Amino acid sequence: MQHSPTSPPAAPDPRRRPVPDRGRTLLGPALRLVHTGQAPTRSALTGRLEVTRATAGAVSAELEALGLITIDSRPAGGGRGRPSHRLAVDPDGPLVVAAQLHADGVSVSLAGLGGRLLDPVHLPLPAATDPVRLLRAVAQTGARLAAESERRCLGIALALPNPVTEPDGTALAALHFAWPSGTPVADLFAAEVARVDFGPRARPGLPSAVANDANLAALAEHRHGAGREARHLLLVTSGHRGVGGALVIDGRLHTGSAGLALEVGHLTVDPQGRRCACGNRGCLNAETDPEALLAAAGRTPDPARPVLAQARELARSAAAGPAARAALEHVVDRLGLGLAGLVNILNPDRIVLSGLHLDLLAAAPDRLAAVVADRCLWGRSGRVPIVPALVRHAGLVGAAELAWEPYLDDPQAAAA
Ligand SMILES: [Zn+2]
Repeated sequence: MQHSPTSPPAAPDPRRRPVPDRGRTLLGPALRLVHTGQAPTRSALTGRLEVTRATAGAVSAELEALGLITIDSRPAGGGRGRPSHRLAVDPDGPLVVAAQLHADGVSVSLAGLGGRLLDPVHLPLPAATDPVRLLRAVAQTGARLAAESERRCLGIALALPNPVTEPDGTALAALHFAWPSGTPVADLFAAEVARVDFGPRARPGLPSAVANDANLAALAEHRHGAGREARHLLLVTSGHRGVGGALVIDGRLHTGSAGLALEVGHLTVDPQGRRCACGNRGCLNAETDPEALLAAAGRTPDPARPVLAQARELARSAAAGPAARAALEHVVDRLGLGLAGLVNILNPDRIVLSGLHLDLLAAAPDRLAAVVADRCLWGRSGRVPIVPALVRHAGLVGAAELAWEPYLDDPQAAAA
């Protein structure tokens, strides 16, 4: 990470301007490096920040004083040369609440730094799924978990399975819950968070945030999973219904002018294909999600079980019979067409697939890569790596990232 010199002074009298504190401007980047496992030692931190040992030492000491990281000075053993102090996120440090709403229920977890979830709680969707009741259930569950913990709670964030506009935070096309399009979900969630008690160790006026789940999953994969070190990371996923996508460029989500970029689900991959909720035919949504795979195999989903689980079983058993194999290949080919279109437009250096798409990749990796390469102008010479997602509960881990974001930008904001 590079750092530009301190920005120009805002104070009119330069003699009263405090001495620029280079160490302070490095706190955020240093915490990000420890948080993502890229600086497990002080010498790694020194190298990554491109600073002197003394500066890295001062910065890590400040993060330790803030209760965010630990510094272990005992020799690591086994290594040669001068031992370096080991850095890690503080296991007793502050927490955030991460939550996710999806077609099959509500998931809520406490999360420390380092992408660590603490025993996620999974609840079925309540009978009434109007926005206020659902958001209240999320806030109440999060508040209970936070109040039961001995650690400080610094924020809460929620992943949603529908597009969320920026910066106003309204939910569009929230088809799973039949919310009116334009529901002001960020404001409603903030109001519900303000109504409940997160316990004596929660930050007063607890900050809250909401975002799309595919965007947050991509952030989680970039920081803690299969997307590490990728510069232009494309994530495509099919969790419960439809298809989501996200792009992380140089560590930051690309969300477009209003938060609605990478709505990959409506890419047309078969003009004569299945009907999509948008009214068109053959969208990636309708051709490569769990219902599409079951339909290709002539199966009707069992309404008593999550459709994703049924589709995953089918994908994993595809080698067992020709009908399942044909259904799998049909859906893999359409996913390949969609990915090829995205590769031609976005030129990613890595594609991470999750949800059902991870199983499609596992079942037919060569076929999928060949379809993508065949349709890409550059793909035939240099293929884009297509890899499976690694982060468990990536939507929740990504929601935690969203809640941590203000503190990763300014770790001193975490001070008690
Ligand atoms: Zn569509």
